[in-house]
Amino acid sequence: MIPSILPTYNRAPMSFVAGEGAWLIEEDGRRYLDFGAGIAVNVLGHANPALVDALTEQAGKLWHTSNLYGIPGQQELADRLVDATFADTAFFTNSGTEACELAVKMARKYWYEKGEDRSEIIAFTGSFHGRSSAGIAAAGSDKMTLGFGPLLPGFTHVAFADHEALAAALSDKTAAVMIEPIQGEGGIIPVPDQCLKGLRDACDEVGALLIFDEVQCGVGRTGKLFAHEWSGITPDIMMVAKGIGGGFPLGAVLATEAAAVGMTAGSHGTTYGGNPLAMAVGNAVMKIVATDDFLTEVSRKAGALRQGLEGLVASHPDVFESVRGTGLMLGLKCRALNADVVKAGYDALLLTVPAADNVVRILPPLNISDEEISEAVRRLDQAAVSL
Ligand code: PLP
Repeated sequence: MIPSILPTYNRAPMSFVAGEGAWLIEEDGRRYLDFGAGIAVNVLGHANPALVDALTEQAGKLWHTSNLYGIPGQQELADRLVDATFADTAFFTNSGTEACELAVKMARKYWYEKGEDRSEIIAFTGSFHGRSSAGIAAAGSDKMTLGFGPLLPGFTHVAFADHEALAAALSDKTAAVMIEPIQGEGGIIPVPDQCLKGLRDACDEVGALLIFDEVQCGVGRTGKLFAHEWSGITPDIMMVAKGIGGGFPLGAVLATEAAAVGMTAGSHGTTYGGNPLAMAVGNAVMKIVATDDFLTEVSRKAGALRQGLEGLVASHPDVFESVRGTGLMLGLKCRALNADVVKAGYDALLLTVPAADNVVRILPPLNISDEEISEAVRRLDQAAVSL
């Protein structure tokens, strides 16, 4: 008999009833150190007082109106994001997947407005952009698309890091190139800065728009507000979600004025996106994360965590192969089965997240303490010993 929850997830045997900072607590009081942060979502930990205050204060005033009316918190968050990034404009969604949908629509509408027949989107193998029609068409892997055809047409896939294939695929039919500056689900694979620069140049040569998917790597995770800032280049359109809501469903598409030219009144919409509750939390997250002091601390802590993980690779060469990633978006490439490492972590009361390429993702809250970093490394060591 089918379970009453549609069985699309193989769930771990834990369920949590409370959270405190980097800790998740089961009904029986068992406390897990959360180095998955809801897959890069809880950037300020669980039950962060500033976020709880922002949400509860707004909850007592106004939950939902509609995008038919002005939403003051939306204006505030859009201004914050525009001030802090390459973007001139923002649209708020409830998720990364919805951000993907709009990014694709925006890119295609851009060319429609120019009167050019350009609808092709180039994306990369191993990528993940969400589970909607556009998201699975963009990622392109059998794992996501099998049985869901006919797929949204117009997506071309290029092998990750294959510069020649990319050059061959780019043409005057390319509407946009979509890429994660650091592949998350694909196994924490950063695109080197010089490759992002090369990609920007290659797009400019044929006039294609460049879309960054910073749903997982954005919002302070790498020690910059957005990961692409390390490379010195900017996209035309960017997808944001996860961390921006700190655990409240919130996403956004940021864009330059030029790229957004086709998105006029009536061209897109959402009932819930940008609602007052999400905006209260989003503004509270940005107030904390989008500061030099906070981002500098992320980089410092990332150094400590990376050092600890490198130590584990050295002391357990049969379990771990290498450490990769940027900032607090780290991956342990495993020699043992990554699922077994994650499971052994559960037994040591440590939460991590598996990814493709036999990688274990280490994605703690960004305000993790030094002691919690040491404790996580100790628990991972315990997990490795048990394998
Ligand atoms: N893009 C990337 C890079 C992601 O990691 C994810 C989610 O894991 C998504 C898009 C989809 O976001 P959501 O699950 O919020 O729809």
